[in-house]
Amino acid sequence: MTDLVAEISRRRTFAIISHPDAGKTTLTERILRAGGAIQLAGNVRAKGERRRTRSDWMGIERDRGISVVTSVMTFEYGGCVFNLLDTPGHEDFSEDTYRTLTAVDSAVMVIDAAKGIEERTRKLFEICRLRDIPIITFINKMDRESQDIFSLLDEISSSLALDVTPATWPVGRAAQFVGTYDIFNKRFLMEEELPQSDERIIQLGEELELVEAALPPFDRESFDAGHLTPVFFGSAMKEIGVTSLLDALAAFGPSPRAQETETRKVNADEEQMTALIFKIQANMDPNHRDRIAFARVCSGTLTRGMRVRHVRSGKQFALHTPQFFFARDRQLAEEAFAGDVVGIPNHGTLRIGDTLTEREDIRFTGVPHFAPEILRRVRLDDAMKAKKLRQALTELAEEGVVQLFRPQDGAAPIVGVVGTLQLDVLQARLQGEYGVSVGFDTTPFSLARWITGERGLLEKFIGANRAAIVDDLDGDPVFLSGSSFMMQRSIDANPELKFHAIKQIG
Ligand code: GDP
Repeated sequence: MTDLVAEISRRRTFAIISHPDAGKTTLTERILRAGGAIQLAGNVRAKGERRRTRSDWMGIERDRGISVVTSVMTFEYGGCVFNLLDTPGHEDFSEDTYRTLTAVDSAVMVIDAAKGIEERTRKLFEICRLRDIPIITFINKMDRESQDIFSLLDEISSSLALDVTPATWPVGRAAQFVGTYDIFNKRFLMEEELPQSDERIIQLGEELELVEAALPPFDRESFDAGHLTPVFFGSAMKEIGVTSLLDALAAFGPSPRAQETETRKVNADEEQMTALIFKIQANMDPNHRDRIAFARVCSGTLTRGMRVRHVRSGKQFALHTPQFFFARDRQLAEEAFAGDVVGIPNHGTLRIGDTLTEREDIRFTGVPHFAPEILRRVRLDDAMKAKKLRQALTELAEEGVVQLFRPQDGAAPIVGVVGTLQLDVLQARLQGEYGVSVGFDTTPFSLARWITGERGLLEKFIGANRAAIVDDLDGDPVFLSGSSFMMQRSIDANPELKFHAIKQIG
């Protein structure tokens, strides 16, 4: 029998967070290449291109040069099994990113050496902080003119309220950048050796003295708690510093963490298998109309064919075809351990936030829905397709493309999004995958809150505000309002009810 503890301790499940253009795609390619997952850097994109031509909605990605697909890439390196979860680059898909970050144990924060901390990096970092996810920092583009390194470290430290410890130090700057000095292991990582008299070596000596005097040493506990970040310098493009980063993840990157449920904490090394669905992706292969639920195994061993309990429905089913995803292809997963991410093909049974167990009646928490800020009514061009539209909207909402709200007064459905790009994706997918053409009309609403409270009072409120009440995908009531002023008035007038901006799902 496989040693569960040994398998789990070599799992590294992480994501890369960054501001667009900092070099996430390039770094991902280099990491996969170092991990032997692809032979040639550039294949990630090439693969993307091939996939895109097969699907209409992916055209949006191509046209705008953005990535809206979250996926997982599994590879082995340094005796560890890495699961790299990709997050969409565009902030309109932030909910998707948020959910993906609930499934990782650490994050690599990529910073452009010339630009420092940018807006999106900061936001993603804040999400990681909510869950105390350990962060490893990679300062990229050191082959170009950069900011002063000490002030860059200072900026990370002060603007993110995070201790920083350089793990490596750049040797030379910009065009003179030749490699790094590994501070943790006291060795040079360079392609060519430089004589002691080289100006870059002299500069390095001076700077290392300053580092030692001014910055805290690496502290494992503080890193694990998300309070301290080790910093690596490099150039993804020139493939400098990438293996140091991976070596560090292998050496001290966190292995699978315990996950919270409504009733207890589940430790990764528990024998019983548990898993959390954090992402649904439909029509990855439109020819098969398939629908993949991405599950993070939270404890134990998942084996192909095993029977699992789907906690939300209480039903049992067998996992016939769980899959691992690699840069190039997918493969049946015979066995997966806590920390691993597997894709489970299904026809809509599985939803974001669902828990799978062997028997136990527990539900993982922490996968939220955020109240959308843009609310639009869906206008159907061909009234004959109303039924088809209903089904399509339900499926796409289950996938998390948009949030779907059904008015209680029987009016046309309303969709809620965080960013308007989500509406473009919805429109393109409805057309491309379901043959339904729609437009969007504005609504008088700009705020949504889930409402809960004592049944009689809730019903009374709903009855009095029928035109502003919609049901979400689960049938839970949501109150819509035109402004925060109006919303506040309703909240004040109904102190016995609760108005929620975030809904925990699962
Ligand atoms: P993403 O938007 O974060 O995924 O960034 P990309 O990986 O697409 O990189 C954005 C741009 O920066 C591209 O033109 C890359 O070629 C370039 N780039 C990425 N890494 C480096 C690097 O280490 N040095 C230099 N000079 N350019 C880089």
